[in-house]
Amino acid sequence: MKKFLGILVALVISFSSFSGLIVVSGASTESTSTARYVMAVKKDVTVYITRTGKKYHRSSCSYLRKSKIAIKLSSAKKRYYTACSRCHPPLK
Ligand SMILES: [Zn+2]
Repeated sequence: MKKFLGILVALVISFSSFSGLIVVSGASTESTSTARYVMAVKKDVTVYITRTGKKYHRSSCSYLRKSKIAIKLSSAKKRYYTACSRCHPPLK
């Protein structure tokens, strides 16, 4: 009976070390997908708006001679600004 218990303990130990290996490999897969998620996040570009218009522009656009307000592209989109047809600023 004692011998049987010894085998059982050995089995449990080998099983738990095996499942430990599974946990380690699972964690490394998760960190890889997290890194991919960070890479996929879009860079927030700066665009320029005027005080009166509802279009956003590149910094070099001639429509910005009257006023030029720097704004993040994401905020410009939230405020329903649309891309200027003359200077073709980035859409995203
Ligand atoms: Zn423009």
